[in-house]
Amino acid sequence: MSDSKFSSLSLQPAILDNLSSLGYHEMTEIQAKSLPAILAGQDVIAQGKTGSGKTAAFGLGLLNKLQVKKFRIQTLVLCPTRELADQVAKEIRKLARAVHNIKVLTLCGGTPFGPQVGSLEHGAHIIVGTPGRIEDHLGRGTLSLEHVDTLVLDEADRMLDMGFQAALDNIVAKMPKQRQTLLFSATFPQQIQKIANSYLQTPAVIKVESSH
Ligand code: ADP
Ligand code: MG
Repeated sequence: MSDSKFSSLSLQPAILDNLSSLGYHEMTEIQAKSLPAILAGQDVIAQGKTGSGKTAAFGLGLLNKLQVKKFRIQTLVLCPTRELADQVAKEIRKLARAVHNIKVLTLCGGTPFGPQVGSLEHGAHIIVGTPGRIEDHLGRGTLSLEHVDTLVLDEADRMLDMGFQAALDNIVAKMPKQRQTLLFSATFPQQIQKIANSYLQTPAVIKVESSH
């Protein structure tokens, strides 16, 4: 199917070239269903199993709209654990190879604040972090989200299971209301619907059963 090729999307040519060199030719189902809405700037809720390619779905969306020359935090990706945040940051850096000088910074708990504050002072385009630590930085005034125009909630069901609801509420309250919000989850319990209603605006809802 020709419309499952990345080249059918309005991605920057350098990003498309990089996808070819990474061996990403065909979109996975969740990518094919969510990327048109993501690239159009819509809010999106996407439900898909582990391994369905959710990281590239939001990663390509945020990279394609990033204003590289504006060296300020434009995207916040929230993940439930440090391990997942590291994986997401690694995948975004891989997808960003084509787009020079993109700075991705991870901010997770279990690490001293000092070096993170130092890194924040040097600046970043994209922050990937866990809700507790992001909330802490906001409380200390060491992180500002005033220029964030894209918020990604990755593995939202796990973040809620881990008790991050209040942290998420606090973080979202400190972000511009005018933004694109993308919510990814493997399952869709009632509690997800509730946060989706309060954080997202008229989202496109995408559900994929298979893993590819
Ligand atoms: P999920 O977050 O849905 O569990 P990931 O985003 O971690 O899945 O992707 C799973 C694996 O598939 C990763 O190793 C990623 O590099 C790879 N991948 C994602 N999309 C594609 C694609 N379109 N073509 C080839 N490999 C892909
Ligand atoms: Mg994932």
